[in-house]
Amino acid sequence: MTDSPSNRDATEPDCLFCQIASGRLPAKLIWSDDQAVAFLDINPWHRGHSLVIPRRHLGDGAASPQAWHEVAAGLTAVAERMKNHLGASGINYLSNAGAAAGQEVFHFHVHVIPRYDDQPGMARLMSRDPAAAQDLDALAASLAD
Ligand code: AMP
Ligand code: ZN
Repeated sequence: MTDSPSNRDATEPDCLFCQIASGRLPAKLIWSDDQAVAFLDINPWHRGHSLVIPRRHLGDGAASPQAWHEVAAGLTAVAERMKNHLGASGINYLSNAGAAAGQEVFHFHVHVIPRYDDQPGMARLMSRDPAAAQDLDALAASLAD
Protein backbone atom coordinates (compact mmCIF):
# COMPACT_ATOMS: atom_id res chain seq x y z
CA MET A 1 0.00 0.00 0.00
CA THR A 2 1.27 3.48 -0.83
CA ASP A 3 0.75 6.39 1.49
CA SER A 4 -1.42 8.63 -0.62
CA PRO A 5 -4.76 10.34 0.03
CA SER A 6 -6.42 7.91 -2.39
CA ASN A 7 -5.84 5.22 0.26
CA ARG A 8 -7.43 7.27 3.03
CA ASP A 9 -10.30 4.81 3.51
CA ALA A 10 -8.27 1.62 3.10
CA THR A 11 -8.68 -0.89 5.90
CA GLU A 12 -7.53 -4.45 6.52
CA PRO A 13 -10.40 -6.70 7.66
CA ASP A 14 -8.23 -8.78 9.96
CA CYS A 15 -6.38 -5.87 11.55
CA LEU A 16 -7.25 -5.31 15.22
CA PHE A 17 -6.88 -1.55 15.05
CA CYS A 18 -8.78 -1.23 11.75
CA GLN A 19 -11.64 -3.01 13.52
CA ILE A 20 -11.46 -0.58 16.45
CA ALA A 21 -11.27 2.45 14.14
CA SER A 22 -14.33 1.32 12.21
CA GLY A 23 -16.32 0.44 15.34
CA ARG A 24 -16.44 -3.28 14.58
CA LEU A 25 -14.49 -4.04 17.77
CA PRO A 26 -15.31 -2.24 21.02
CA ALA A 27 -12.78 0.04 22.65
CA LYS A 28 -12.84 2.92 25.09
CA LEU A 29 -12.74 5.71 22.55
CA ILE A 30 -11.70 9.07 23.96
CA TRP A 31 -11.13 11.25 20.89
CA SER A 32 -11.63 11.16 17.13
CA ASP A 33 -11.57 13.26 14.00
CA ASP A 34 -11.97 12.34 10.35
CA GLN A 35 -8.43 10.97 10.08
CA ALA A 36 -7.66 9.36 13.45
CA VAL A 37 -9.11 7.90 16.63
CA ALA A 38 -7.77 7.59 20.17
CA PHE A 39 -8.67 4.97 22.74
CA LEU A 40 -7.47 3.61 26.07
CA ASP A 41 -4.81 0.91 26.01
CA ILE A 42 -6.13 -2.29 27.63
CA ASN A 43 -2.77 -2.98 29.28
CA PRO A 44 -1.75 0.45 30.54
CA TRP A 45 1.70 1.31 31.77
CA HIS A 46 0.23 4.27 33.64
CA ARG A 47 -3.34 5.35 34.38
CA GLY A 48 -4.86 6.76 31.19
CA HIS A 49 -2.30 5.24 28.75
CA SER A 50 -3.89 5.70 25.33
CA LEU A 51 -3.21 4.99 21.68
CA VAL A 52 -3.74 7.31 18.72
CA ILE A 53 -4.13 5.60 15.34
CA PRO A 54 -4.94 6.70 11.80
CA ARG A 55 -8.35 5.49 10.62
CA ARG A 56 -6.82 3.96 7.52
CA HIS A 57 -4.51 0.97 7.71
CA LEU A 58 -0.87 2.01 7.68
CA GLY A 59 1.22 -1.03 8.47
CA ASP A 60 4.48 0.86 8.18
CA GLY A 61 3.17 4.31 8.93
CA ALA A 62 6.08 5.46 11.07
CA ALA A 63 8.11 5.81 7.89
CA SER A 64 5.68 8.34 6.50
CA PRO A 65 5.39 12.05 7.34
CA GLN A 66 1.74 11.90 6.28
CA ALA A 67 0.98 9.25 8.92
CA TRP A 68 2.38 11.47 11.67
CA HIS A 69 0.37 14.37 10.30
CA GLU A 70 -2.84 12.34 10.53
CA VAL A 71 -2.39 11.53 14.23
CA ALA A 72 -0.89 14.87 15.30
CA ALA A 73 -4.15 16.53 16.35
CA GLY A 74 -5.03 13.49 18.46
CA LEU A 75 -1.66 13.43 20.17
CA THR A 76 -1.95 16.99 21.38
CA ALA A 77 -5.66 16.78 22.27
CA VAL A 78 -5.28 13.60 24.29
CA ALA A 79 -2.19 14.88 26.09
CA GLU A 80 -3.98 18.08 27.01
CA ARG A 81 -6.90 16.11 28.49
CA MET A 82 -4.52 13.92 30.47
CA LYS A 83 -3.06 17.03 32.06
CA ASN A 84 -6.41 18.74 32.61
CA HIS A 85 -8.56 15.77 33.67
CA LEU A 86 -6.17 13.22 35.14
CA GLY A 87 -3.58 15.47 36.72
CA ALA A 88 -0.73 14.23 34.56
CA SER A 89 2.35 16.40 34.88
CA GLY A 90 4.27 14.83 31.98
CA ILE A 91 3.62 12.83 28.81
CA ASN A 92 5.61 10.16 26.97
CA TYR A 93 4.89 9.84 23.23
CA LEU A 94 6.13 6.50 21.93
CA SER A 95 5.76 4.59 18.67
CA ASN A 96 7.20 1.11 18.27
CA ALA A 97 8.12 0.71 14.60
CA GLY A 98 8.93 -2.88 13.67
CA ALA A 99 9.05 -6.15 15.57
CA ALA A 100 12.60 -5.50 16.74
CA ALA A 101 11.34 -2.33 18.41
CA GLY A 102 8.57 -4.23 20.20
CA GLN A 103 5.69 -3.52 17.83
CA GLU A 104 2.93 -6.10 18.26
CA VAL A 105 0.04 -4.54 16.38
CA PHE A 106 1.06 -3.67 12.83
CA HIS A 107 -1.21 -0.71 12.28
CA PHE A 108 0.65 2.52 12.95
CA HIS A 109 -0.06 3.85 16.44
CA VAL A 110 1.42 6.24 18.93
CA HIS A 111 1.32 5.51 22.63
CA VAL A 112 0.42 8.56 24.71
CA ILE A 113 1.41 7.82 28.27
CA PRO A 114 0.49 10.21 31.06
CA ARG A 115 3.10 10.52 33.77
CA TYR A 116 2.55 11.44 37.37
CA ASP A 117 4.86 12.87 39.95
CA ASP A 118 4.71 9.78 42.16
CA GLN A 119 6.31 7.54 39.47
CA PRO A 120 8.72 9.80 37.61
CA GLY A 121 11.49 9.03 35.15
CA MET A 122 12.26 6.78 32.21
CA ALA A 123 13.01 3.77 34.41
CA ARG A 124 9.33 3.74 35.43
CA LEU A 125 7.93 4.21 31.94
CA MET A 126 6.70 0.66 31.57
CA SER A 127 5.57 0.01 35.11
CA ARG A 128 2.40 -2.05 35.15
CA ASP A 129 -0.42 -1.52 37.59
CA PRO A 130 -3.08 -4.25 37.19
CA ALA A 131 -5.65 -2.20 39.09
CA ALA A 132 -5.64 0.46 36.39
CA ALA A 133 -7.33 -1.84 33.88
CA GLN A 134 -10.44 -1.99 36.09
CA ASP A 135 -10.71 1.76 35.87
CA LEU A 136 -11.32 2.03 32.13
CA ASP A 137 -14.91 3.28 32.27
CA ALA A 138 -14.07 6.11 34.66
CA LEU A 139 -11.06 7.05 32.59
CA ALA A 140 -13.00 7.05 29.33
CA ALA A 141 -15.58 9.36 30.89
CA SER A 142 -12.87 11.69 32.18
CA LEU A 143 -11.03 11.88 28.88
CA ALA A 144 -13.98 11.96 26.50
CA ASP A 145 -14.17 15.74 26.36
P1 AMP B 1 2.76 -2.13 20.30
O1 AMP B 1 3.53 -3.10 21.13
O2 AMP B 1 3.43 -0.81 20.15
O3 AMP B 1 2.32 -2.74 18.99
O4 AMP B 1 1.48 -1.79 21.16
C1 AMP B 1 0.23 -2.38 21.00
C2 AMP B 1 -0.60 -1.93 22.15
O5 AMP B 1 -1.95 -2.25 21.87
C3 AMP B 1 -0.25 -2.60 23.50
O6 AMP B 1 0.11 -1.61 24.46
C4 AMP B 1 -1.54 -3.32 23.87
O7 AMP B 1 -1.78 -3.30 25.26
C5 AMP B 1 -2.58 -2.55 23.08
N1 AMP B 1 -3.79 -3.29 22.74
C6 AMP B 1 -3.86 -4.54 22.20
N2 AMP B 1 -5.15 -4.86 21.97
C7 AMP B 1 -5.90 -3.81 22.39
C8 AMP B 1 -7.30 -3.54 22.43
N3 AMP B 1 -8.20 -4.44 22.00
N4 AMP B 1 -7.72 -2.37 22.94
C9 AMP B 1 -6.82 -1.45 23.39
N5 AMP B 1 -5.49 -1.64 23.36
C10 AMP B 1 -5.03 -2.80 22.88
ZN1 ZN C 1 -5.23 -1.69 10.39
